[in-house]
Amino acid sequence: MDTIERLKQREELLWLNPHLQAVEPREKINGYGFVYMKAAQNRFMRFLPYIASVFPETAAKKGIIESDLLPLAAMKDWINSRGAGIQGKVFLKDDARLPIAGSVKARGGIHEVMKIAEMLAQEKKHFLPTENYVKLDTPEFRELFSSYKIQVGSTGNLGISIGRMAARMGFQAIVHMSSDAKEWKKELLRREGVIIKEYDGDYSHAVAVGRQESAREENSFFVDDENSRDLFFGYSTAAMRVSVQLRKKGIPVDGDHPLFLYLPCGVGGAPGGITFGFKQMFGNHVHCFFAEPVEAPCFTLGMASRKKEKISVSAIGLSGKTVADGLAVGRPSAFVCEMMEPLVSGSFTVSDEHLIEYQRALLETEDIFLEPSASAGFRGLLDVGRPDSGWAEYIKARGLEKSMGRTTHIVWGTGGGLMPRDESC
Ligand SMILES: *Cc1c(COP(=O)(O)O)cnc(C)c1O
Repeated sequence: MDTIERLKQREELLWLNPHLQAVEPREKINGYGFVYMKAAQNRFMRFLPYIASVFPETAAKKGIIESDLLPLAAMKDWINSRGAGIQGKVFLKDDARLPIAGSVKARGGIHEVMKIAEMLAQEKKHFLPTENYVKLDTPEFRELFSSYKIQVGSTGNLGISIGRMAARMGFQAIVHMSSDAKEWKKELLRREGVIIKEYDGDYSHAVAVGRQESAREENSFFVDDENSRDLFFGYSTAAMRVSVQLRKKGIPVDGDHPLFLYLPCGVGGAPGGITFGFKQMFGNHVHCFFAEPVEAPCFTLGMASRKKEKISVSAIGLSGKTVADGLAVGRPSAFVCEMMEPLVSGSFTVSDEHLIEYQRALLETEDIFLEPSASAGFRGLLDVGRPDSGWAEYIKARGLEKSMGRTTHIVWGTGGGLMPRDESC
């Protein structure tokens, strides 16, 4: 059966990207190169003193918004007790503990708000990149920002990232939310002065309405999750940080030591940006796979059908409804699909039942709490070592059989840090 037919059946499956290309570190992809990631990283650096002062929870780390790379020993045993046969090292990138947003959205969302604020400060107040950014928290700048709106469409976590950062800077923050968005996320934002607009439709609908409303207004910026470069390159900075974390642990990434990433995917921006960044750092030695719910496999559907953003999961009879609210997206980002065509190794789908099972197992074995969306990557880890699978085909085609014992696996734990525990499981 072909991939689309199996997606229709809500099967858990692996799709391998037939257009994957060999790329060197720092190679330009569709005209975008290393400087785009570096510029985003530099922007985070310029804002360090501001972030440290405005978000006291980041002060101990001097304003750095970063999470740990946690070795998983007990969870690896749990996975191997199910016949997974994982030999290499297994880590969780614990983005649920990223400050401010409690999810992977921190890097993308905060980056885009910083870029807007910096542009306005430079244009309207001749603020220089060499100045101390703590000044942006003075009445002069807060007043400037307060005459602008920043709007975003979100299933929740992007709204938290953009909304908190924008409101704290003094902007009028408006988050357009789909019906999937959880009540606690709306309440958290309202408490911080963010305006929530709710819609009955799905995620794309919330984005479309937000985009239209914003376009009609003078002083309004719309953070467009389905197209934004600034989100994408904000996300990509994770790769520079993780490459340092790996080096500090003495873990090489090279021809003998492959790196496999398992990345939960909604519209594709976060996993896409991360993939772009890792390819810039490690070229062909990194292998990136996206994870999606069986009811909302929009990226897999878009790529396998080659229709990209032009096809929605509802067109093949899927509901888009899943416990993974962060991944409940019907259509992928057009920009991300273009960028990922040569870079992503493949993608796989996971049932809701399994998302909950992995979420629980991680809590029981490692005492680490993730939201259901964030546990999607574990499906890949359970399957990558299976001999009679598409994974084995991928590994064989790249001559990686001998190095699998020296492989580093990173499951990206994308969110859940702000989620109330009584919402869990
Ligand atoms: C947003 C999100 C993702 C996926 O990011 P996209 O940019 O939508 O692909 C994954 N996990 C969680 C928890 C998220 O909030």
